[in-house]
Amino acid sequence: MKPNLPRLSLNRVLAGALIVTALTCASASAANRPNIVLIFSDDHAYQAISAYNDPRHLIQTPNIDRLAREGIRFDRCLVPNSICGPCRASVITGKYSHRNGFYNNTNSRFDGSQTTFPKLLQAAGYQTAIIGKWHLVSDPTGFDYWQILPGQGVYYNPPTIENGKRVKHEGYVTDLITDFSLDWLKHRDKSRPFLLMCQNKAPHREWEPALRDLDHDGDRKYAEPPTLFDDYAGRGLAEHDQDMMIEKTMNNRDLKLIPPAQLTPEQRKAWEAYYEPRNAAFRAASLTGKDLVRWKYNRYMHDYLGCIRGVDNNVGRLLKYLDDEGLAQNTIVVYSSDQGFYLGEHGWFDKRWIFEESLRTPLLIRWPGVVKPGRVNRDLVSALDVAETFLEAAGLPAPADMQGRSLVPILRGKTPKDWRKSFYYQYFEWPQPHHVRPHYGVVTDRYKLVRFQAADCDYWELFDLKKDPRELRSVYGEPGYAKVQRQLTGELTKLRTDLQAPDQFPPEVYGNPPKAAAAKR
Ligand code: CA
Repeated sequence: MKPNLPRLSLNRVLAGALIVTALTCASASAANRPNIVLIFSDDHAYQAISAYNDPRHLIQTPNIDRLAREGIRFDRCLVPNSICGPCRASVITGKYSHRNGFYNNTNSRFDGSQTTFPKLLQAAGYQTAIIGKWHLVSDPTGFDYWQILPGQGVYYNPPTIENGKRVKHEGYVTDLITDFSLDWLKHRDKSRPFLLMCQNKAPHREWEPALRDLDHDGDRKYAEPPTLFDDYAGRGLAEHDQDMMIEKTMNNRDLKLIPPAQLTPEQRKAWEAYYEPRNAAFRAASLTGKDLVRWKYNRYMHDYLGCIRGVDNNVGRLLKYLDDEGLAQNTIVVYSSDQGFYLGEHGWFDKRWIFEESLRTPLLIRWPGVVKPGRVNRDLVSALDVAETFLEAAGLPAPADMQGRSLVPILRGKTPKDWRKSFYYQYFEWPQPHHVRPHYGVVTDRYKLVRFQAADCDYWELFDLKKDPRELRSVYGEPGYAKVQRQLTGELTKLRTDLQAPDQFPPEVYGNPPKAAAAKR
């Protein structure tokens, strides 16, 4: 028998029940919003993460590998502009350099009034912190707590700026960044979810390992890349006329032939105890030609990989804290870098190019209950996607003008049918510091079409990664590639229109004024 209630009050009861249910669901999902830890290193090449299985087997990184084993490894995570500041600006804004205004590392300054994902998470109740390398010149915005390195920062005894105040420290930069991150985690408000951006300086130039790690490799001879002595045949002016060579560009600081200035007398003793006997042997050998390049390459690998050892150990400390505190289950942990890096490929160190080693950056994501452990993905994803991914994970809508796309469907195991099949890249910084000419282009799973453009050149190149994975010979203009070239040219035009990339830029986007830079060279 129906209860004898007037119609109006029945509706009122139902409406009330719906409101109660909605509130319960909303507060439940708010309570379950995942924490986010973004561990972001500087210039960490995927070739130097053992989970990426580089054939040279340069290093074992068991702690970083844990994220690949317990989460997903992305093999084609591409950056929109392969240098430090610009990529960082793209990560937090979800936009290309031409939309967020941060083009280069020499005169760009981040406009902190624009929308970023940390600001949106903060407004939605997340506690937010950034600790370590920031490199965007203006003060961070959108963070409850920030402790950053001034500029590039230094490896030994680095000063930091903590919420605007300069602080001195003794210790090694990667350890300190992790110490400060753990301190912040310990003192956070445990009733709210958090975003922690733990941003290492390592393994950026000048590649200075923790003193305890100086003897990490037992004077190992590192396997060389097949292109260590690349002659750049089959490519144009830009590749021939750059300034990022192990042979010519590395200086005495890079090569540890002189000690870093920041060491205490005691630290300097430990530093010299390792390097000085080896430097004496090097001087006595008077190496020349290829032997000299090989020595430099080996010293470079020793130092670079020594820095990675410090990063990996500290990733282990952070993961252990999450385990010990019972936080691992509801925390998304991401490991990535602001771009890839050349570890001797093409005779180079540094980054910048649309070519694979600098275009691709490592991306590992662990999200228990969402990401099935041990997955590997080859979709074209990007550093631009980070912002929208975190927003969706937190249950927040992404602003319509962000230019990436949330990776959440891919993390859940299903790549959307309309996922990007091509990616737009554009690099500006010129001519300082490494004399790499500005270029832009389109990348697909197999091809790369690129246009180099500077006062002294305007030319195109086309690479077929299936036949030429090391990108040694441009096939632009070859009859066999006419159709591919036409398709890619059309795709590039379409991407530039969709992404609102201007045809002309003012001179300041290239960094140092060309005249002053030319005089310095
Ligand atoms: Ca970098």
